[in-house]
Amino acid sequence: MADIIQLLPDHVANQIAAGEVVQRPASVVKELMENAIDAGASTVKLIIKEGGKTLIQVIDDGVGMSATDARLSFERHATSKIRKAEDLFNLNTNGFRGEALASIAAIAHVEMQSRTEEDEVATHIRIEGSKVISQEVTVAPKGTSMMVKNLFFNIPARRNFLKSTQVELRHIIDEFHRVALAHPSISFHFYNNGNEIFNLPSSNDRQRIVNVFGGKTNEKLVPVKEETQVVTISGFICKPEFSKKSRGEQFFFVNNRYIKSPYLHHAIVAAFDGLIKKDSYPGYFLYLTVDPGSIDINIHPTKTEVKFDDEHTLYAILRSTVKHSLGQFNVIPALDFDQ
Ligand code: ADP
Ligand code: MG
Repeated sequence: MADIIQLLPDHVANQIAAGEVVQRPASVVKELMENAIDAGASTVKLIIKEGGKTLIQVIDDGVGMSATDARLSFERHATSKIRKAEDLFNLNTNGFRGEALASIAAIAHVEMQSRTEEDEVATHIRIEGSKVISQEVTVAPKGTSMMVKNLFFNIPARRNFLKSTQVELRHIIDEFHRVALAHPSISFHFYNNGNEIFNLPSSNDRQRIVNVFGGKTNEKLVPVKEETQVVTISGFICKPEFSKKSRGEQFFFVNNRYIKSPYLHHAIVAAFDGLIKKDSYPGYFLYLTVDPGSIDINIHPTKTEVKFDDEHTLYAILRSTVKHSLGQFNVIPALDFDQ
């Protein structure tokens, strides 16, 4: 029998990878904002139209890219963030897989402008469905602007699967919150259909939370602080009386990355045991810092799950730290005064 196996062309491989990385417009927002942060931006601007279906643009004032790097950034497995496998366990960047831009460019119309400090001119690249349409020299400020239009233009099944503009906008706002909360010292602007809906100046953890969720949030917050050999914990929990029936204000950040962890969530719920109703969720904004060598982030292409070396210890520390904070701020009802 004749040989039948072939290597897939790059644009096909990219489109397949895109299926995992880009579920909806919010995934693009996440990847572009993370790149802006990795580039050392101090101001990040997010501009979207129609829930990101027609336009997503992220503008940063970070380090920018040379002409060669700008072109290379759209190749699969092209990254400036790791060099060798061991680097995966010493990450201090959001990105490391080198596949976001290649994936996005495979399924959208993309326009990038970028300039480094040293370069006198900027690079302007247009790519559609992995095909480079043009690469020109242009004039632009230092930093990078990535414009993504017509997401899933070449995958009708995915395009039709997108939800209403309102729902997609909600998902984008959720991603925006996560990134903005993870990086309080960076200033963020968010424009939806031409209106500025968020203007977050550079600030600290508490101010950022208040800026994102509104002035009333301030009185809800109980500080959490703990430093052990395994983990440093900072941030806030919300007083029990502010717990809600719906999920929403639950945030874990591990080494400045938003992560989802049902297991650690359970540790918080356990700490609130007896203080809130069984069917309500405590609010929390918890920043965990651990040795990068003790976690694995390369679990899923979206990088929102981590594997901890010692999950059980972390659970126990988290639970007792939160319990302690709740007690210290007298939010535990005085149940046993007469004992
Ligand atoms: P990763 O972030 O995993 O490295 P990406 O596909 O997201 O992969 O980006 C590829 C490379 O392009 C990055 O490693 C970085 O060098 C460069 N890059 C992407 N976005 C920016 C940006 N906003 N500013 C500067 N460089 C960028
Ligand atoms: Mg990236």
